[in-house]
Amino acid sequence: MLGLGVPPTAVAASYVRLQGVGHVRVHQHRPVKGRVKTISVKREGSRWYVVLSCDDVPAEPLPATGAVAGVDLGVASLVTTSDGERLANPRHLAATADRLAAAQRDLACRKRGSKRRRKAVARVAALHAKVRRQRLDGAHKAALTLVRDYDVIVHEELRIANMTRSASGTMEAPGRNVAQKSGLNRSILDAGWGVFLTVLAHKAESAGRELIAVNPADTSRTCARCGHCVKENRVTQAEFACRACGHAAHADVNAAVNILRAGLALRQAAGAAWREAAPFRERRSHRFMLLHTAGICSCLRDI
Ligand SMILES: [Zn+2]
Repeated sequence: MLGLGVPPTAVAASYVRLQGVGHVRVHQHRPVKGRVKTISVKREGSRWYVVLSCDDVPAEPLPATGAVAGVDLGVASLVTTSDGERLANPRHLAATADRLAAAQRDLACRKRGSKRRRKAVARVAALHAKVRRQRLDGAHKAALTLVRDYDVIVHEELRIANMTRSASGTMEAPGRNVAQKSGLNRSILDAGWGVFLTVLAHKAESAGRELIAVNPADTSRTCARCGHCVKENRVTQAEFACRACGHAAHADVNAAVNILRAGLALRQAAGAAWREAAPFRERRSHRFMLLHTAGICSCLRDI
């Protein structure tokens, strides 16, 4: 079986004992918290990882800030908040994406079965892994910033179809700059949304923050000031200018404000449903409590 810690020779290093393998030196990158439930060993290219998943990890609630925010997920910036703050995709992620594209071009012209092709495959795999690690790092940093600053965070519900919406658009509303945006680079930056939301959900739960998911329909074309909703409001990818009241803002910030508003409305409705259901609560307490402690208001719509 596996055991963490106890080094057989050196005191400063961590060792893992794997049955049938023996003691393997590991770089433990953070202390283990909670009760270890499963341990798995995985390999990515030439790197090996020991992955621990733990139960009963103590929550680390953060002090209340009294602030709420809506967040818009984008390509140029991973996250834009309703306060106008932009948490960018790290620049080195785009640089690695370029190197990955070059490595894939190189791979494409290697002869099958050749030694050079084998090397090119390994290079592409290593760069893919690097992109994955950088994306995860960026997601952790952005999520931590949000969780530290806000008590309630509203984000758009992610659907797979959204992943490609602004690149190709639809028959009625074809996207802008399709060629520029539909490249490999874009797909790499795009795919970070799911990772980001997963990381954000974990951090919010641990910090005792409330996370609300809302339907993103029309949030990018509705004016955050007067509510006028036409697609012409969105002048360019970055620019929003209301046709009715003249309100001008960055398109992502305008969307984030709409997302925040939708989330707060949902939260209020959920609160009202909670109060109205008081007489029945005895009977349905278990289900209600489950939903309530989950802290996700959108669940209440299912009742
Ligand atoms: Zn307006």
